[in-house]
Amino acid sequence: MGPEVQRFEEELQTYLETDYHVICVNSGTAALHLALEACDVGVADEVLVPSLTYVASYQAISASGATPVACDVHPDTALLDLKDAERRITPQTKAIMAVHYGGQVAAYYQELYAFAERHGLRVIEDAAHAFGTRWDGKKIGAQGDIICFSFDSIKNITCGEGGAVLTADSKVAQRIRDARLLGVEKDTDRRYASKRSWEFDVKHQGWRYHMSSIYAAIGRAQLSRFSDFSAKRQALAKLYHDGLSDLPGIQLFDLASKDVVPHIYPILVADEKRDDLQIFLREQNIETGFHYKPNHLLSKYKTDYKLPVVEKMMTRLMTLPLHCQLDEKDVQRVCQSLREGLACS
Ligand SMILES: *Cc1c(COP(=O)(O)O)cnc(C)c1O
Repeated sequence: MGPEVQRFEEELQTYLETDYHVICVNSGTAALHLALEACDVGVADEVLVPSLTYVASYQAISASGATPVACDVHPDTALLDLKDAERRITPQTKAIMAVHYGGQVAAYYQELYAFAERHGLRVIEDAAHAFGTRWDGKKIGAQGDIICFSFDSIKNITCGEGGAVLTADSKVAQRIRDARLLGVEKDTDRRYASKRSWEFDVKHQGWRYHMSSIYAAIGRAQLSRFSDFSAKRQALAKLYHDGLSDLPGIQLFDLASKDVVPHIYPILVADEKRDDLQIFLREQNIETGFHYKPNHLLSKYKTDYKLPVVEKMMTRLMTLPLHCQLDEKDVQRVCQSLREGLACS
């Protein structure tokens, strides 16, 4: 972790149009883990989190020693349902981890922060899907409490592996800067000056979570191409939206708005048709995905309560292909095949 990482952090700051601290780490999961620890979330604490997310969100919470409290999602957006979250607040609740599913934030963003303020909670945004998305004119990462991105191999930009934490809170930022380097105090400053720390102190638990210069170099090259990537993703999502919005039996999310840079393109398929449709599409050489198996149904995070919306959604969710190597014709073919598949099922 040398000066190349510092340059990437500065370029992220410039791209996101923010004076927030930017701290790069070696994965999105590490970003979430460090964000929690830096606000002293740990053993005996609870963190509200939607069930519909990658298991990384849950593992980051349990790694801190805290308990993830699975919440339901809103049927229109698949984002955390704040009414359900409110019911699950206890005196142990310390933070809320919001997941910007697909890249959406919608009107929900404002409600999320009002909710957190009302209940005195820290907000950790799992913004792994939302690099480039804007809310209220500002990019995600340039507002809010603590925002975590992932730059793994399939995200909107990649470092190969990587992640970043953004915050305006200088104390939290300093904790994270030290914690990513095994807790070695002020090691970041010396490494950015191409120096080593021979004499140092350690006060907190740290992890070997720093970003390597090699990954930062990849990230810088990717970031310089991001205006092409984001325009492409937005254009493809718009094509899906226009091609599918009149199709009965399909429900779309708000992923084609100009403020969203979509990371995945999930849709909801009418009851009982999803599995057959996936098979039909696979026969046409169209691979679809499933984001995600609800975490409260995993053995480690099993709840003694039901989450009806996400449990219903689970049988209807299907993710369509979305990446920069697709072109207009590909998306039209997917839409056409979907039409045929739905007509014959
Ligand atoms: C990718 C992802 C993560 C984790 O990021 P990694 O860089 O793979 O550790 C966390 N949350 C969500 C929603 C993700 O999609």
